[in-house]
Amino acid sequence: MAQWTRRQVLAQMGLAAAAVHTLDPHELCCTVAAHAQTADKELFELKKVGDGVYGAIAATRYKVNCNAAVIMTDDGVVVVDSHSKPSASRAMYAQLQGITKKPVLKVINTHFHWDHWQGNESYAATNPKVEIIASQATKENLTKPDAGVGGVPYIEKQLAALPGEIEKLKTDIQKERDLERKKNLESNLQQAESFMEELKRIKPTLPTRTVTTMVTLKEHGREIQLHVLGRAHTNGDLFVYLPKEKIVATGDALIDWMPFMNDGYPEDWIHTLTALEKLDFTSIVPGHGEVRPKSHLAFFRGYFIDLIAAVKKASAEGATLAEMQSKIGDQLAAKYEAGFSKYPLGRYRDRIGQNVEMIHKKVVQKA
Ligand SMILES: [Zn+2]
Ligand SMILES: [Zn+2]
Repeated sequence: MAQWTRRQVLAQMGLAAAAVHTLDPHELCCTVAAHAQTADKELFELKKVGDGVYGAIAATRYKVNCNAAVIMTDDGVVVVDSHSKPSASRAMYAQLQGITKKPVLKVINTHFHWDHWQGNESYAATNPKVEIIASQATKENLTKPDAGVGGVPYIEKQLAALPGEIEKLKTDIQKERDLERKKNLESNLQQAESFMEELKRIKPTLPTRTVTTMVTLKEHGREIQLHVLGRAHTNGDLFVYLPKEKIVATGDALIDWMPFMNDGYPEDWIHTLTALEKLDFTSIVPGHGEVRPKSHLAFFRGYFIDLIAAVKKASAEGATLAEMQSKIGDQLAAKYEAGFSKYPLGRYRDRIGQNVEMIHKKVVQKA
């Protein structure tokens, strides 16, 4: 597989780097709180979900990594999602090597967001014949100029935003008096600087095979179904389902954090989750957070149903966006705040305001 630099890929797409808009901070999906511990020793914790199936649960980092699902077959390994940078997928691969010496044969990208595909290149480096599989819509999103928080043009946006981000971290370090917080900020600064260096050298590695509805991969010793069930977190979410082991890997369409809706379709999302629920599974390897039982789906979907109803009602009563954001945040807290605030990232209060705004824009205003 040709390994092109990001500038060559942009040129192929007919896009000059300079023509790509810079990043609006509002678009950032996952920024880490200054106090969050981001310097654990291992990037991933491999948790066994079934026989030869693991959830690789990502540790908190300044630049977020998604989880991976790891599926062993008789010939090699299938990995779902590749994190935010090649060094993260290299670390994942090194951890995998502790379990098996077999090659990674297939990488599946659940959607186009930056934190799920930017590490593809390192798997292509370990095996030039690796297949990279995504939905057709995801493949298109990866090279669209403005699909949202991911894709080749989004690499340029991140690169344009990073110097400002790094300057701000430096200022924050100067001002911080608490030693523990200062240490975390210094770790974040170091991570931001090395992330920028990695992004400059990234070789965008795009899907080689696409799925439009459903495909069954007959891997030796394992049946892996890939399902496109409708729009949800993006217009191209792919669900990876193991019917025998009763496990599903969902990307960010079903996570153990608060949902990120900016590139999503909140009303469709409910129906897509209902379609997913019809599959016979017991465990979910989500895009972020810990492995969850099937019952988590109803909790997560319930949040969309309640949030949409609350925003529709408040806007019919003439509430302003700011009023809705504070009122609905408090109103739904009893049911959802604890369940959606288990990790240092993607907590209820971090995202409820943005979620209300997205529902207002996408469901009420239909913008
Ligand atoms: Zn994600
Ligand atoms: Zn995402």
